[in-house]
Amino acid sequence: MNTIETDRQYVAPTYRRESVVFVKGKGSLLFDETGKEYIDFGSGIGVNALGVGDPEWTDAVTRQIEKLPHISNLYHTAPCAELAAELVGRTGMAKVFFCNSGTEANEAAIKACRKYSFDRYGRERYKIVTLERSFHGRTLAALSATGQPDLQTPFVPVVEGFRYVKAGDLAAMREAIGDDTAAVMIEMIQGEGGVNVLDAEYVAAVAAMCKEKDVLLVVDEVQTGNGRTGTLYAYQGYGIEPDLVTTAKGLGNGLPIGAVLFNQKTACVLSAGSHGSTFGGNPVATAGALAVLKKLTPDFLAEVERKGAYMRMRLAAMKGVKGVTGKGLMIGVAVEDAAKVKSACLTKGLVVLTAKDKVRLLPALNIPDELIDRGLNIMEEALQ
Ligand SMILES: *Cc1c(COP(=O)(O)O)cnc(C)c1O
Repeated sequence: MNTIETDRQYVAPTYRRESVVFVKGKGSLLFDETGKEYIDFGSGIGVNALGVGDPEWTDAVTRQIEKLPHISNLYHTAPCAELAAELVGRTGMAKVFFCNSGTEANEAAIKACRKYSFDRYGRERYKIVTLERSFHGRTLAALSATGQPDLQTPFVPVVEGFRYVKAGDLAAMREAIGDDTAAVMIEMIQGEGGVNVLDAEYVAAVAAMCKEKDVLLVVDEVQTGNGRTGTLYAYQGYGIEPDLVTTAKGLGNGLPIGAVLFNQKTACVLSAGSHGSTFGGNPVATAGALAVLKKLTPDFLAEVERKGAYMRMRLAAMKGVKGVTGKGLMIGVAVEDAAKVKSACLTKGLVVLTAKDKVRLLPALNIPDELIDRGLNIMEEALQ
């Protein structure tokens, strides 16, 4: 059996995989087992922030693998401590919890919100308000936070205590936050939900509402974080101060990592014994993440912004494009049939993603201008 046949036989069918077997990559180029070259506008799903084979990242990870790949959270290691210090230093948050994925980061954040509220206000104040069309992950609490009924229905009963409101509807949010509410959880740009950018005034008003009632504000930056939208974290472009920030995807650059950033108020809520993860803060993953953050300098982030603006400008002028959304290098392209455009692109050697009815582009943050142009040319052809 070849790889595709073996996969179909033995791997649980949770993904609708394309019939391509990738074997290697270099920067923003990928190669399949037939040697065919692809330009990568997906970077995994926003994971390979520095493309494939970034020298500093590879060096940091391989040096750590040789020295000590794992030791457990019963002891200290330098990469974990240094990554936390770097995240705190660049966000103004206070402490970091490490886990292994986006959904785990959100699980930790949900637990922290409930405990914060439990400790101060008792057991009746535990509701968390999230947005319709949001995506917060696949494990049970994160799925329960996800405002997409079709994803939840076969797994009922979902975890109790979530309430969903329409994004952008301030009156609905005001209505939803009551005496029983512990937190509000939002993505600055809904990724899986279709690259829907939240309005700055709406976000500022929600943040003010939360602050006034001591309702915690959680920003899910699993997809928008780590330079993706042109600021280190997307919330930093909105001028708000969340109580918790969750992140994953691009922080890992290929290795599994998730993180929750806590502000001063929530820093010590998850006390010893109340939460944990065997692999969380793993020295290899954290050494790699530190190498990612070191690259995301102000100059680098300005380039993300410039490249994103250029891509959106070219896309908006293409025949067959009905609209372009997003920020930085997180881009949604409204077209007639996104699945069809995606597969036409793949045939022509361009990897793109979809989100709901849009084509979604999440290229590596350091993609060269020349590959941006070549990729966009392919997309223009595919749209015909
Ligand atoms: C991908 C994603 C998640 C889930 O992350 P996993 O690593 O797949 O568990 C959660 N929230 C957002 C916004 C995401 O984009």
